[in-house]
Amino acid sequence: MRVLKISAIILCLIAVAAAAVPALACDQRDLGRATLAPNDGWASIDTGTTGGADAAPEQVYTVTNRQELVAALNDGVYPPPSSTPSSTPKIIYVDGTIDVNVDDNNQPLTCEDYYQDGYTLEDFLATYDPAVWGLENPSGLLEDARVASQKAQEARVRIRVGSNTTIVGSGRGARILGAWFDLRGSSGSPRSNIIIRNITFQDTYDCFPKWRPTDGELGSWNALYDSISLRYTEHVWIDHNTFRDRETADEKMPNYFNVLYQVHDGLLDITNESDLVTVSWNRFEDHDKVMLIGSSDSATADRGKLRVTLHHNLFDDLGQRTPRVRYGQVHVYNNYYKIQRNPIYAYSWGVGIESATYAENNFFKTDRSVTSDQFIAVYKGTAIYETGTFVNRRPVDVLAAYNEVNDPALSGDVGWEPTLFINLQPTWTVPYAVERGAGPFNSHRH
Ligand code: CA
Ligand code: CA
Repeated sequence: MRVLKISAIILCLIAVAAAAVPALACDQRDLGRATLAPNDGWASIDTGTTGGADAAPEQVYTVTNRQELVAALNDGVYPPPSSTPSSTPKIIYVDGTIDVNVDDNNQPLTCEDYYQDGYTLEDFLATYDPAVWGLENPSGLLEDARVASQKAQEARVRIRVGSNTTIVGSGRGARILGAWFDLRGSSGSPRSNIIIRNITFQDTYDCFPKWRPTDGELGSWNALYDSISLRYTEHVWIDHNTFRDRETADEKMPNYFNVLYQVHDGLLDITNESDLVTVSWNRFEDHDKVMLIGSSDSATADRGKLRVTLHHNLFDDLGQRTPRVRYGQVHVYNNYYKIQRNPIYAYSWGVGIESATYAENNFFKTDRSVTSDQFIAVYKGTAIYETGTFVNRRPVDVLAAYNEVNDPALSGDVGWEPTLFINLQPTWTVPYAVERGAGPFNSHRH
């Protein structure tokens, strides 16, 4: 064991010397015991974020399928005894690909396998076609059957994650397909201290999106399930993951009722009094709605919370919300935004009610058709601080670009200045650092 460990470290150092892997891959001999570095964003404040680093030997798991993953989150018990996951310190290594749309024998489940009470997609489309049904929201037995079918899928894909947990990919190949990681405490009793690293989250999808005929000009399909959602949860570190769609990518989905059959919700949503989150070195790819920080203007309990740091993330081929912020003090630095040949691009930074985004040294690579004022969209917010932004290798004052074509103007005064950060890089070095360093890396734990 020891000999293997040492040889792995030596191999790693050789790989670094050859520039085949980022040096970071060698920093932690055991990724499961790694903790967030002091000063590394909001999640490092006070107690810091240690996840399951203190796990006893019997709370260290390696999981290869859904059942093992759910058991590991519940003190080794499957099916879980309750809907409250274990808060005992635990380390969960994800080995290979885990598809959560499976039965208890690990056999794949298709959307049809979840159908309940006579639901079929064909019947649903025939019944609620606006040309037939009109512009009322769907109701009746078939809509009820859709909801029942949605619940049947949710029972498989919703993975509840408790406090004091580290979930980490054993290597670059760790993938979780179709899952909704639900990190959810309650008001006054938050979940806390959770680390999720080194995993590819792929194709989180809802087989049963809801039809809302008057949502937007043509109506819209509204799906459930973010890849990861935080509600009433604090001290979380989300690091070196990839979030993406492949089999269910929007461009592969059909239009129904003349609008995209949207089966995705967000990739990483941070809402409902969540707080103290560091999101670093992730790749967010090919998706519409990415990261909502604060879900409602009326959620005034979010005031003073929703403090999030985003750094060294790749935002590539996305529609919107990178992030969209309400209420929170959010530090957005050294991220790399690629907006190229992207017909769904809407905006990057959403300025919501009482939001205080502090954007520093971010790099945008864009087509000439995208103008810098488009990076900002305002949803009842009044300010965003922005400095050191480069667009295609030129420094650009994004706030001035926005204010030049919009009225009323946004203020640059957000009333705070970040102190929790390390390694704030010059903007011109960001594309190389992020392309090379973001996303899962090979780890050597054995
Ligand atoms: Ca969401
Ligand atoms: Ca695309």
